[in-house]
Amino acid sequence: MQAARGAFAPANRQAELLSRLSERIGGNAILAGDDVGDGYRGDATDERGERPAIVFRPSTTAEVAAILEECNRLGQPVVVQGGRTGLAGGARPGAGEVSLSLERMVSLSVVDEDAATVIAEAGVTLHAVQQAAADCGLFFGVDIGARGTSTIGGNVATNAGGIRVLRYGMYRSQILGLEVVLADGTVLTSLKGLPKDNSGFDLNQLFVGSEGVLGVVTRACLRLHPEPRSQANAFAGCRP
Ligand SMILES: Cc1cc2nc3c(=O)[nH]c(=O)nc-3n(C[C@H](O)[C@H](O)[C@H](O)COP(=O)(O)OP(=O)(O)OC[C@H]3O[C@@H](n4cnc5c(N)ncnc54)[C@H](O)[C@@H]3O)c2cc1C
Repeated sequence: MQAARGAFAPANRQAELLSRLSERIGGNAILAGDDVGDGYRGDATDERGERPAIVFRPSTTAEVAAILEECNRLGQPVVVQGGRTGLAGGARPGAGEVSLSLERMVSLSVVDEDAATVIAEAGVTLHAVQQAAADCGLFFGVDIGARGTSTIGGNVATNAGGIRVLRYGMYRSQILGLEVVLADGTVLTSLKGLPKDNSGFDLNQLFVGSEGVLGVVTRACLRLHPEPRSQANAFAGCRP
């Protein structure tokens, strides 16, 4: 996410950022210097990016908003990171970027069995959603190999597909509402979970597949499905 340009040189800017944010967010939410592990440099490919000078690990939407607001004020570029299982380099830090990792936002609501919905924070893994649905006799419509590590925020941001896509559709088809923080810290919340909603533009869908460029997904209201009564596997061969 590219913020507006600020008046500070990069090193001074990051020092100023730390000073401003250490007063606004919890101490556990900031890693800096040698505390930044190697894992934050990359995704599931072999290619490594820069080691970010700062990794922000917010645990609430309000902290995400504070981080983005200050980064925007100072012109500090940000890379958003979920489970870092992407294969396209979107979560790989570039020179001078700080990381915003959603790994501590891991709350999952109780499944609403009547509405067949669940609300997940961005850092919840795909597998945790699948399991919560299964525990209530319901089913989540997306499955990918990276289910144990990839996060709901990353899945939304990449519009993940996977092995159930022909039956249940892409990730975008599973989304009934989102909470998103824009680059200036504005929070957009639309977590009503109503399938019938014709109140103007559907802004949620704009953020699906936007790879962190338009805003940071902090929560998603996800559609669940009845569990299939039976499943069968088949191999199909094609003539070359
Ligand atoms: C074994 C394996 C199998 C896979 N199979 C599939 C598959 O079948 N189908 C498929 O589509 N993908 C697949 N992938 C790719 C990857 O798992 C998905 O793209 C996944 O959705 C990424 O989620 P993540 O949390 O790891 O995101 P990350 O890799 O951390 O980030 C991916 C992108 O989303 C952005 N982002 C992350 N979190 C947020 C957020 N909260 N708000 C805004 N932007 C954010 C990042 O900036 C980056 O641009 C596979 C990967 C592996 C390793």
